[in-house]
Amino acid sequence: MCGIVAYLGDKEAQPVLLEGLRRLEYRGYDSSGIAVLNGKGLEVTKKVGRIQQLERVLAVRPLHGSLGISHTRWATHGKATDVNAHPHTDASGKLAIVHNGIIENYGILKKKLIDKGFQFRTETDTEVLAFLIGFHFDTLDTDTENRLEMAVMEALREVTGTYGLVAIHQDQPGLMVGARRGSPLVLGIGKHEHFLASDVSAMAAHTQTVAHLRDFDVVTIDRNGYRLKSLSQNKVGLEISKIDYQSGEAEMGDFPHFMLKEIFEQPISIQNAFRGRLNLDESTAQLGGLNLTPQDLREIDRIVITGCGTALHAGLVGEYIIESMAHVPVEIEWASEFRLRNSPMDRRTLVLAVSQSGETEDTLGALREARRKGHRVLGICNNVASTLARETDGGVYMYAGPEVSVAATKSFTSQVVIFALLALLLGRMRFLSASQGRGIIEAIEALPDQITQVLRQSAHIRKIAEKYRNANSMLFFGRQMQFGIALEGALKMKEITYIHAGGHPTAELKHGIIALVDEKTPSVFLCPKDGAYDKNINNLQQVKARKGPVIAVATEGNEEIRNHADDIIYIPDAPDFAAAILSVVPLQLFAYHMAVILGRDVDKPRNLAKSVTVP
Ligand code: GLU
Repeated sequence: MCGIVAYLGDKEAQPVLLEGLRRLEYRGYDSSGIAVLNGKGLEVTKKVGRIQQLERVLAVRPLHGSLGISHTRWATHGKATDVNAHPHTDASGKLAIVHNGIIENYGILKKKLIDKGFQFRTETDTEVLAFLIGFHFDTLDTDTENRLEMAVMEALREVTGTYGLVAIHQDQPGLMVGARRGSPLVLGIGKHEHFLASDVSAMAAHTQTVAHLRDFDVVTIDRNGYRLKSLSQNKVGLEISKIDYQSGEAEMGDFPHFMLKEIFEQPISIQNAFRGRLNLDESTAQLGGLNLTPQDLREIDRIVITGCGTALHAGLVGEYIIESMAHVPVEIEWASEFRLRNSPMDRRTLVLAVSQSGETEDTLGALREARRKGHRVLGICNNVASTLARETDGGVYMYAGPEVSVAATKSFTSQVVIFALLALLLGRMRFLSASQGRGIIEAIEALPDQITQVLRQSAHIRKIAEKYRNANSMLFFGRQMQFGIALEGALKMKEITYIHAGGHPTAELKHGIIALVDEKTPSVFLCPKDGAYDKNINNLQQVKARKGPVIAVATEGNEEIRNHADDIIYIPDAPDFAAAILSVVPLQLFAYHMAVILGRDVDKPRNLAKSVTVP
């Protein structure tokens, strides 16, 4: 989940690396470090904390040289400390590596190396890999051409686990070696300069020409260019592409936090999700990237939606939408579970893998498991150049623009819109009439303006957050399509405020959760005017009868709700699927304002990282 940036060119490496790290910081931010090779040898600086801590040290003692590697860490093995931070050096202190992923057999490898007399300084799996590469380097003849490349390849043959890594060695001062298995690594090709990074955003300011390494690829870069090898039998070959990425897109502008900016971008990001995908003549959706014929689409008799966290919650809303509009049975599966279990599926089951980044390790594991079993897998993701996009049979891009805040917001609403498009498409091939299709299209087209209306209540929602700032726990309730929204609202609250929050199907209240209700525990009720409204009000009153404070998300014009709830946030009147999308926006704002009031680090909450690229 960490970020890697490596540079070899004719500029000073340090500023390029730091700038790249800043762009990647959302991937992990418990410590960071850089190593530079210059005429004097290998110099390493690393520091626990945010990148600013590292920058402070480097401002006083800069590292000079035009070849360097850098890393921002999300610890998996060993605490976040200066010494556990990357880059890690080998026993000789002449080799340094940065690594993203987990070396699963590091315990066995470490023991073997200790038996050979090596002494370790850290608790990390990565240091073991550094020592192992160093060990192979030192056993090769000093005049071996490609010595570092060979040492990396020898070491990786002994490794199980995942890695995106870059290695440098002071005895081969003009080159760096990168390798990938399971964790992303991208090669950037510039004029007289090359980059390796875990994400294109780290190099987008310098080059638009990139190539994504594939699993088992090993790339060696020197002043003359790059050379590719593979640890597998695969034919080697890189697909070089031009990225369409404006590095400025990921700037905060006038907003105090990326999260707020991204919440406010939703009228546009949603529009991008459905632009060009609505067929008004035929009252249906057109999703060209699915790569499925109308016959294929008709034959689908079951859909499995898999993902993690927010993407899974979007999938849950999607389940209700697809089943109600298209009558195709849908199941959601946590990707981490699905990849390990033997879920019964048949020939006509379509798997939908959902991940904003397209790099979520568990989701990739699930999609590979499904493909290995011969199922058709489609992806829903935001990152066009992601592993998920490459490994699926087709899919739908979100086009939501970069989502930098760790807490996902606009990606959620885009995913739900995409499920609505898919449901419309499948529904129109089954029993939805043209006029029903038209109604759905109108509701989708109305969403950007309706979201803008909800956003106007930001100040009102902030006042509600002020009122409940001392809460230690919160409850979120929703039925049907609003159940996934309740889960997502609770997740946002937990992620960025650290207040414990639970999302529940409303009627579950009386089956246990009601025991948690007291004067200090606010309950958020999602109760727009829909078929379940009266039932929701009954449950709401059960909470009020036990003195629990209630915040209601209700449909505009509903004055009656004032008799029941303590605080009300209105959303525009809309069909159920659109009301679900509209309801999540106030919950995002509620969590955001609460986090700001409590002084939390909104965009980089503790312990979290944006794209979870470790299993
Ligand atoms: N497993 C390594 C560590 O704990 C790398 C973690 C990461 O991807 O940031 O240092």
